[in-house]
Amino acid sequence: MKPLVFIPDPIASSGMDLLRSACDCLAPWSEGKKPDLAEQRGLLARADAVIVRLFAIRANDLEQAPRLKVIAKHGVGVDNIDVAAATGRRIPVVFTPTANANAVAEHTMTLMLALARNLFPASTAMLDGRFNDRVKFEGVELEGKTLGVIGLGRIGRRVAEMAQRGFAMNVRAYDPFVPAGGYPEGVAIETSLDALLRDADFLTFHMPLTPETRHLMNAGRLRSLKPGCRIVNTSRGGIIDESALALALREGAFAGAALDVFEQEPLPADHPFFQTPNLLLTPHISSSTQESLDRMARDAAQGVLDVLQGKRPAHPVNPEVFS
Ligand code: NAD
Repeated sequence: MKPLVFIPDPIASSGMDLLRSACDCLAPWSEGKKPDLAEQRGLLARADAVIVRLFAIRANDLEQAPRLKVIAKHGVGVDNIDVAAATGRRIPVVFTPTANANAVAEHTMTLMLALARNLFPASTAMLDGRFNDRVKFEGVELEGKTLGVIGLGRIGRRVAEMAQRGFAMNVRAYDPFVPAGGYPEGVAIETSLDALLRDADFLTFHMPLTPETRHLMNAGRLRSLKPGCRIVNTSRGGIIDESALALALREGAFAGAALDVFEQEPLPADHPFFQTPNLLLTPHISSSTQESLDRMARDAAQGVLDVLQGKRPAHPVNPEVFS
C-alpha cells in the first residue's frame, strides 16, 4: 500500500504530481469538497504525512495521528505547527525556506511603494469619480530615505538589496542574531532597535513570531516613530500590537502602515482595522506568486518523499530527530 499524504489546503500541481508518483493523496479540495475541521482531523489521523499551509498541527492532533511520519510546511513560518511536540515524537518537520523569499521581498517593496504614493486611496478616489482629489495624494520618494529592516534573514536581506540597489535607500538593519561580519555590504548595523525606530522613514519586519517577538511593536514603540514614518509587515501579525496600531493611526501618530499578516486570519468582522485610516491591507498573499507557489509545493513534496524514503530532507526544522 502506498503511503497516504493529507494536504488540507490547495498546493500547486508541481507538488501534487511529485507526490502522486509514490503516494496516495488525501486532498479533498482537489475534488471540490470542503470538509469541516472534524473531518479534516479524521483525515490527518489516517495519514503517513501532511503538508500544511496555515492549517494548525497541535500536540493533541499528533496524539490522534499514530501513523504520521513527517510534517511539511508549505512556506517558512512554522508557528502553526507544534514543533516541540513533533520533535518529542521524533517526527521530522520540513519546510521550504528558499522557495518564497523573493516573492515576499517583492510584495514588501510593492507595499512600501503603494504607501509612499497613496496608491490605494488614489485608485479608490479615481474609481469613485473623484479625479480632482488628486491634489490630496502628494506622495514621497524612496530615494535617499532611511529604511529600517528588522530581521535580516533570507527575506530581510533580499528587501535590503532591492531597497539599496534598486531605490538608493539608506538601509539600516537590526538583527541581534546576525554577527557584525554577517551583514550585507552597505547595510548599516543597528545595535539598538529603539534608535532605529526613532530614525526610520520606512520600517519593514522580517522575523519569526516567537514569545520574544510577540508585540515587539507595542504602543510605546509605535508612538516613538517619526510622524512621516511608514511601516510594512509581511512577517507575522503578532509582531505588531494591532489595537495599539489602529489607535496610533487613528490619532495620526505616523503616516501609514501596510500589512499582509494578522493576529487572527481572516480578520474578525468587528476588528478595529475596518475603521482605521492610512492602512493598506492584503490577505496574506506575500508569497502567492506562480513561481513561489510552484517552488513551495515541489520543495514540500520532496521533503515528504525524502523522509518517507528514509533519506535526510534538505530543509529540516528539527534536525535533532535524525541524530
Ligand atoms: P529567516 O529565518 O531567514 O530570518 C529571520 C531573521 O529574523 C533571522 O535572521 C533572525 O536572526 C531574525 N530575528 C529573530 N528574532 C529577532 C528579533 N527579536 N529581532 C530582530 N531580528 C530577529 O526567515 P525568512 O525566510 O527571512 O522569513 C521571515 C519571516 O517571514 C518568517 O518567520 C515568516 O513568519 C514570515 N513569512 C511570511 C510570509 C507571508 O506570506 N507573508 C511568507 C514567508 C515568510
